[in-house]
Amino acid sequence: MNTCHFCGGELKEQLTTFLYEDDGQFWLVRNVPAFVCAQCGEKEFSRATTKQVLTLLRQPPRPVEILHVPAYDMALS
Ligand SMILES: [Zn+2]
Repeated sequence: MNTCHFCGGELKEQLTTFLYEDDGQFWLVRNVPAFVCAQCGEKEFSRATTKQVLTLLRQPPRPVEILHVPAYDMALS
């Protein structure tokens, strides 16, 4: 897993934010290790990491913060 499968750019391992959506509900998990493309910014998570995040979200601990974020719609702009 060394090159981006979108643009061929170099992937670097770093901590990032994992955003998970299920049926209109969102969960955000910070400091998740990912391989991030230096060129296009695409994030790739390993199978093991994805499994860990999904396990965490199955029985989520108390959130560290509740966020209110602006939402946009490309079909309306
Ligand atoms: Zn890329």
